[in-house]
Amino acid sequence: RDRAAHDAWTGPGRTADGLAVKILANVADAPSAALAAQGPVEGVGLFRTELCFLNQTAEPSVEEQAGIYERVLGAFGAGQHVVVRTLDAGSDKPVAFATLPGEENPALGVRGLRLSFGNPGLMDRQLDAVAMAATATGTETWVMAPMVATVAEAADFGAKVRARGMKAGVMVEVPSAALLAHRMLEEVDFLSIGTNDLTQYTMAADRMASQLAHLTDAWQPAVLQLIAITAEAGRRAGKPVGVCGEAAADPLLACVLVGMGITSLSMAAAAAPPVGARLAAVTSEQCEDAAEAALAATDPASGRAAVLELLG
Ligand code: PEP
Ligand code: MG
Repeated sequence: RDRAAHDAWTGPGRTADGLAVKILANVADAPSAALAAQGPVEGVGLFRTELCFLNQTAEPSVEEQAGIYERVLGAFGAGQHVVVRTLDAGSDKPVAFATLPGEENPALGVRGLRLSFGNPGLMDRQLDAVAMAATATGTETWVMAPMVATVAEAADFGAKVRARGMKAGVMVEVPSAALLAHRMLEEVDFLSIGTNDLTQYTMAADRMASQLAHLTDAWQPAVLQLIAITAEAGRRAGKPVGVCGEAAADPLLACVLVGMGITSLSMAAAAAPPVGARLAAVTSEQCEDAAEAALAATDPASGRAAVLELLG
């Protein structure tokens, strides 16, 4: 049944009773964007810009950057939007022209938006380049920052992006951002939850440590609680809240997220058909029941079992 349903799912994302949930792709560069654009996704929920620069020793000029972004934005057209994430370099994901070398604790160090603290021009030039590419292609472009921890950071970033005529958002990857999601939404137009990092920072467990995989699991009820707080803040503000971490690619967990009020799911393009097919087979009320069950569980395994029981 599932195999046939995957093959049959051609978008757009919606539940059986017609609740629209945008299904978007995570992309890294022009080739992955072109591939994603051939499939049924409704745009891009996460363009990881740092992946364009891993081999670059010097910062590309604004014009060079704009050319790179243009090739990604240009792959998508009418009715689709692309969410560009500003550089998420850090000493674990080094970008030669941005990263501070030799940090003792890179996951808690100067990564993501924090790179702009000592070098605001780096962020300004990237935003100029994204705005140029958005104008050149006419693609609806939203811009978000990774690793936002305070409302002041959201306000500063939101102002910079809006001044360039684009929609501004922040990633919710740090528990402080989830707890203050309602205040973040006073400063920006949307939120996107990065469940890979949100899980790592909530559970104090390195996302790369395979022996801690039972902790770095987005089904952990504490992680789900933070996602629910963030989704509820979006609902109250009437602003979109998406998920762009691995959690969005788990068809069962995707239903839980939708039940919490998440409005878009972004994932590797190949993961979209099974997620779209699963959503199409459940009602929004079933998703709400699934969310309640997952939040009430004491551990990931029993949460998953309870949701499977409800959704079949
Ligand atoms: C995340 O943290 O969930 C995320 C989407 O960002 P990245 O995986 O690139 O850190
Ligand atoms: Mg992240």
